[in-house]
Amino acid sequence: MRLSHIPRQRVKGLALLPVGSMEQHGPHLPMGTDCILAQRVGEEVEASLPEIILFPPICYGVSLEHDGFPYVGVTGETFMRMVREVLETSLSSGIRRTVVVNGHGGNEPYLRVVQREFNFSHSDAKVRVVNLSTYGGDLHAGVGESSEIYVIDEGLVDLSSMSSIDSRYREGIFDTLNVREATRDGVADSTGTLRVDPELGGKLLEQNVLRVKSVVLQFLREL
Ligand SMILES: [Zn+2]
Repeated sequence: MRLSHIPRQRVKGLALLPVGSMEQHGPHLPMGTDCILAQRVGEEVEASLPEIILFPPICYGVSLEHDGFPYVGVTGETFMRMVREVLETSLSSGIRRTVVVNGHGGNEPYLRVVQREFNFSHSDAKVRVVNLSTYGGDLHAGVGESSEIYVIDEGLVDLSSMSSIDSRYREGIFDTLNVREATRDGVADSTGTLRVDPELGGKLLEQNVLRVKSVVLQFLREL
């Protein structure tokens, strides 16, 4: 069920909340890549367990590490506040379990804080964050994300720009260096030549759906 499509008496039980970002993903992938992936995984889990409620995604994330490249986002404080308030008002509305499906690495530290604070101050409601995983060497906009987006919608990947992308990155990326400083093209992937592999993309999506689903099933048993 989609929260936006159901009447108030059906709002109860377990919610799935996809979160992502609006940030550059090289010249070949869309700005909303992380949000598209989180939303897709949420949709697939909801389709197999129709009693759960799929919330609209939060697509404005924390993308400080892309400063100097295009991104549209919020500060960590605003993001944490937004997620906290969504959780609190959900609880007042009858939602007692929430699984946050996170498609963006830059949101992780903030979601960890929100999860700890929420869980340790509520005995009647719990939240779990599942960070989507990608292909081994893909740190940003690489083979994994490109392949997953291609599986979702071929038209969203600009294949013609891929051969000229330099996906090498400097050590310190995401720690001491931002993406502008650490890469030439805003893409970081150690697996070598950038490519799209539909079989890999399908597998990655499926693995993430299964990971989210196992957390959902565990939560459903607690309700
Ligand atoms: Zn991404």
